[in-house]
Amino acid sequence: MNALHTPLSAEDQALAEGVLAGRLRALAKSITLIESRRPEHRERATALLEALLPHSGRAMRVGISGVPGVGKSTFIEALGLHLIDRGLKVAVLAVDPSSSLTGGSILGDKTRMERLSQSTSAFIRPSPSSGSLGGVAEKTREAMLLCEAFGFEVVIVETVGVGQSETAVAGMTDIFCLLQLPNAGDDLQAIKKGIMEIADLIVVNKADIDPRAAQMAKAQIKSALHMLRPASPNWTVPVLTLSALKNDGVASFWAEIERYRTAMQRSGEFEGKRRHQALAWMWEMIDSGLRARFRDHPAVKKNLPALCQAVEDGQSTPASAALRLLGYLG
Ligand code: GDP
Repeated sequence: MNALHTPLSAEDQALAEGVLAGRLRALAKSITLIESRRPEHRERATALLEALLPHSGRAMRVGISGVPGVGKSTFIEALGLHLIDRGLKVAVLAVDPSSSLTGGSILGDKTRMERLSQSTSAFIRPSPSSGSLGGVAEKTREAMLLCEAFGFEVVIVETVGVGQSETAVAGMTDIFCLLQLPNAGDDLQAIKKGIMEIADLIVVNKADIDPRAAQMAKAQIKSALHMLRPASPNWTVPVLTLSALKNDGVASFWAEIERYRTAMQRSGEFEGKRRHQALAWMWEMIDSGLRARFRDHPAVKKNLPALCQAVEDGQSTPASAALRLLGYLG
């Protein structure tokens, strides 16, 4: 097994020990290292992650998604404070692919969860701001492992309900929760985008505004869920109504998470899902690595424009051009 591992420098050994000893500065520094795009940092980050991997895996990994304004940060703050009250340590990470486009993050920024960020039992880290969705998700996965090695018992990964980021977050967490507004028809949006299919738990937030509307939304979502094939024979997706602002329903939410964990552990699906996620992550890395290697290959770079032109002009079939380009990889 050791042959697979890269050796750790003395400096990074100290960093790893700092993380294991629960020093926040060491954790923050380690996350900065894994987020760096410099090749020499990448090598150090890999070694650091390998050293800490055996100490990871003990947290409950909770994914939370919903459109902007649904109340994610209000909810995560209320949930985080509830868990801290129960003696747990909570890390909040974010996957926000828009941050790489705009340079600013709509998620995970500390000022959104002011009370939670002041607690010494909480750690809030904004979304990595560079790279594609795949790159951002990869860094968040790695940050999650570091947070677990540090000793956080709950890791919340937040994402916005736009685009593909939900699938990425569902692929790195044990339970994926979708926050919905108490509006009729909202559920149809989620179904269209395929998000409801990957949700293990659905929350209708802002139930304080109009409890009747919230109940109606809950009934609608429940009937919509009937049309979907359940992901597990041992779990029926619950729909809860909740008010993050009034802190009403947060304890029941956590009780559902615990019920889910127990059911999945009992059936063996909990570990099965994690094993599957780890392998899927490896294949994602292989795919993106191969793509990068392909694009950077000198012969590919040289011949790509002409072959693209030939395909566009109908002078070459896409299949033969692809074969030729792939052939350059040897
Ligand atoms: P995010 O964009 O999903 O993170 O949403 P925020 O947490 O920033 O919330 C958006 C707005 O909705 C804020 O003004 C919150 O105070 C408000 N809000 C969040 N949860 C609730 C709730 O349960 N009830 C009510 N009435 N307002 C809420």
